[in-house]
Amino acid sequence: MTDLSDSARAETMAERRIRLMGPNVPTFYRTPLHIVRGEGVWLWDAAGKRYLDCYNNVAHVGHCHPRVVQAIATQAAVLNTHTRYLHESVLDYIERLTGYLGHGISQAILCCTGSEANDVALRMAQAVTGRTGIIATDNTYHGNTAATSALSSRRSPIGGYPANVRRVPAPDSLRHPDPDGTIFAAHVSHAIAELDRAGFGLSALMLCPVFANEGLSTVTPGWLDPTVRAVSAAGGLLIADEVQPGFGRMGSHFWGHDWLGFAPDIVTVGKPMANGHPVAAVLTRPDIMATFRQAFGYFNTFGGNPVSAAACLATLDVIEDDGLQARAAVTAAHLMERLHALRHPLLAEVRGAGLFFGVEFVTGADLTPATDFVADLVEGMVERGFILNRIGRHANTLKIRPPMPFSTDHADLLADALEDALRATPVPA
Ligand code: PMP
Repeated sequence: MTDLSDSARAETMAERRIRLMGPNVPTFYRTPLHIVRGEGVWLWDAAGKRYLDCYNNVAHVGHCHPRVVQAIATQAAVLNTHTRYLHESVLDYIERLTGYLGHGISQAILCCTGSEANDVALRMAQAVTGRTGIIATDNTYHGNTAATSALSSRRSPIGGYPANVRRVPAPDSLRHPDPDGTIFAAHVSHAIAELDRAGFGLSALMLCPVFANEGLSTVTPGWLDPTVRAVSAAGGLLIADEVQPGFGRMGSHFWGHDWLGFAPDIVTVGKPMANGHPVAAVLTRPDIMATFRQAFGYFNTFGGNPVSAAACLATLDVIEDDGLQARAAVTAAHLMERLHALRHPLLAEVRGAGLFFGVEFVTGADLTPATDFVADLVEGMVERGFILNRIGRHANTLKIRPPMPFSTDHADLLADALEDALRATPVPA
């Protein structure tokens, strides 16, 4: 290869990103992928290599689903304004989506990102309770706004965590078994007492019903009951962040909170809602909505615009017409069986919640996280043409969360490749 001087060498796309976007912009994998096309559960990179997408939940009904693409294009060609004008589509959508929700939830605010939705939800709870304390887990992510990033464990907020935020230990079924949720509830009760003593009081507990970002700890229906009792005794609200489990991914249920068996006061949704078009929502009961709307006159320029509403409606049409929730249940059961059949000396636990899986790897009796091994394993899978990633406090858990059209045949391709990659990935001495 010719040796070019730095100035003569063509700028790589990674370098161009740093020049134009600044440093530390996250990418996946040691060699970031340059994906140029998607269709269904498949992605193609710029060199024409095909990957099975076992990871992306935003393309919920499959990458570039023609019905969603058509709905966006058709509406974009007619009108795109905002909710200060009357338009039927956003109303049709809220009516249809709240039809999937119980617990008196019948109203919505549409916005553009999960972060915004969670930010609004937190302020709703504060407006309703007149208190400001917030509880979340200590290994989570609920968004990138000022309020939601104060709950995030990835980077501590500048100046430290605000005094009205209490972070309780995230469930970790491998290291700290808590099969009936009483340990978690005790942590929440302790945090409530601290918030009371500090004069904040509890406004809300915000959590993802499957604890996805926490590493998908095993929890079972009823697990949250003791926590729910503690929160309601303190007059706090329960916010279910359904950004990850919502829209049928659980297979058995449309929502994570219905699967876990609790009644949220506020539900937030985002990512999979419009198959990649940026839409999110806060859903709640009329009493909570009225208090919030009176306390803050909320308006969002892009939230609930006619094109977004068309994308949302089309995504829901596909979920229903293609029976994707039922399909997720079948695929999930099959893939779970295949994952349980994997044999490897470092494999500690296979966990799942619907079409969402975590496979944790550790070394030694003290369960040291096999973080580097899982990083190598993921790279090996990408080389083999399979896109997945890692989750959990120590990033030592494989994260598998494919688009919903993923079938049992796709699951077999993935499991076969995993068997092969597990054989090939060097085990640390
Ligand atoms: N909540 C959860 C549970 C998430 O995982 C995320 C994003 N990964 C968000 C909220 C934030 O959503 P967004 O990136 O759309 O702001």
